[in-house]
Amino acid sequence: MTDPSLHEQFMRLHGESNEEAEEAASMLGHAAEASGDQVIAVSACLLGEKTRYDGRDAHVPDIVDPLLRRRHMRVIPLCPEILGGMGCPRDPVRFVVGDGEALLRGEPARIEDGLGRNWTAPIVLGAKRAERLADLARASLALLKERSPSCGSRSIHGPRGVVPGRGALAARFMHRNLPVASETDTSPLRFSPFCTKL
Ligand code: SF4
Repeated sequence: MTDPSLHEQFMRLHGESNEEAEEAASMLGHAAEASGDQVIAVSACLLGEKTRYDGRDAHVPDIVDPLLRRRHMRVIPLCPEILGGMGCPRDPVRFVVGDGEALLRGEPARIEDGLGRNWTAPIVLGAKRAERLADLARASLALLKERSPSCGSRSIHGPRGVVPGRGALAARFMHRNLPVASETDTSPLRFSPFCTKL
């Protein structure tokens, strides 16, 4: 994480206490509202947090650093898989049936690791918790990591490699028309008056 205050925020949001996490998100939302700032939910790994399954990050400074510098823009860092209690490092998981949209619609969907163990419930829990924190922070945009079964907005890891689809959190955001960009396509951020140059 390049920004120490953002790392502290990440730690408060992803600690053991759900109450503390919700309080931190609410404080961010109130502060943003008071100052007229826009809040963007960002996959924590894109910001440099080591939250990926392999204990590494997916930092893309060319995209996130301009966001962090932008006036009237606040960031809430979120990792739904940590919020779902999956830990780090963890086994990589993928959709073997359906995607995040199917989960939302109550259609068949299942997420497994390489040994066939079912991770659907923790993925759904993490997506719900991340959505709740983003709501409390009044997030109106999102920048999420492509291909993740939680964060992918256009592609996800499926049974035989990367396939079109939405992850569990991206589907929830997109279902309510929250603009969702990824590190491979930042065009949805142009809806924001504060991100016109991305
Ligand atoms: S769940 Fe999302 S934020 Fe967490 S490591 Fe995977 S892509 Fe990054």
